[in-house]
Amino acid sequence: MPTSAAPSPRPFLPGETPEFYLPSEPPAGATDAPAETGASARRSHRRGGYPPLPQPLPVPVIDNHTHFDFPDGAVAVSIEQALDAAEAAGVTRAVQVGTDLVSSRFTAGVVAQDPRLLGAVALHPNEAPLLAEAGTLDQSLTEIEELATGERIRALGETGLDYFRTGEDGWDSQLLSFRSHLDIAKRLGKALQIHDRDAHDDVVATLLADGAPDRVVLHCFSGDAELARRCNEQGWYMSFAGTLTFKNAANLREALLVADPALVLVETDAPFLTPHPHRGRPNASYVMPTTVRAMAEILDSQLDPLCARLTRNTEAVYGHWG
Ligand SMILES: [Zn+2]
Repeated sequence: MPTSAAPSPRPFLPGETPEFYLPSEPPAGATDAPAETGASARRSHRRGGYPPLPQPLPVPVIDNHTHFDFPDGAVAVSIEQALDAAEAAGVTRAVQVGTDLVSSRFTAGVVAQDPRLLGAVALHPNEAPLLAEAGTLDQSLTEIEELATGERIRALGETGLDYFRTGEDGWDSQLLSFRSHLDIAKRLGKALQIHDRDAHDDVVATLLADGAPDRVVLHCFSGDAELARRCNEQGWYMSFAGTLTFKNAANLREALLVADPALVLVETDAPFLTPHPHRGRPNASYVMPTTVRAMAEILDSQLDPLCARLTRNTEAVYGHWG
């Protein structure tokens, strides 16, 4: 672990291949990013490098949703470097999340290499229609189930429904994929990490109709106070991301105030959803204290008990890192 004066992750040197990054196309899950920080933005140029290292948190927290396999912008780091930087900021552990077969295989491999990582594997809701079209959705789901049996894979995710990126003709295969992941999570006793974009009602209806697994996380919670109340009733976890700090996100702040404190989690969804005031730059786990401090301010809470609570909640969902 570097000292607290550690620099932000070092620049990616020309010609160097970061050891943990996959030499692949951007995974389909890149489409879970908002338009301004999405795949197209990553292929162009970010406005700046990584944000500076924030003041470390006084009590360790866990980033429960991040993508270490998505390189970003002109700067990239190995997973070890990214985790060292996070640890220096008080973000001592993370959940690496898969979005397609390639990144889920990557996830299954990398969680065995660093004790600070647990994993989630899934086919992203924007990936499912493409696989269905290619006739490979069923066999892909079979492999996801195999990967999900790993001891350090603690969730199926990210799965769910995305009515923003996927057109209506892809919704049937999205739903089929979502329900399959839900079924796998229940059979294997794993948590379920849900990507819900413009699809709140159908996500809730599907969970209620099929019966939810014991532990459900609405990743990058994007609902309002009403959805937070429904989550409270059902005992579903709400994971808040950097979007909480966006000026136009009053609904998220209201939701956080309504959410049962025992059901609140925090995440980065890095390299996406960089919190204010660093929007436009790549996100990383070490930036998460910015979001945690915003939570404390919204909740009018001291930082220490909030961090301790977030960590307890996260361990209640994913178990121990060991
Ligand atoms: Zn994600």
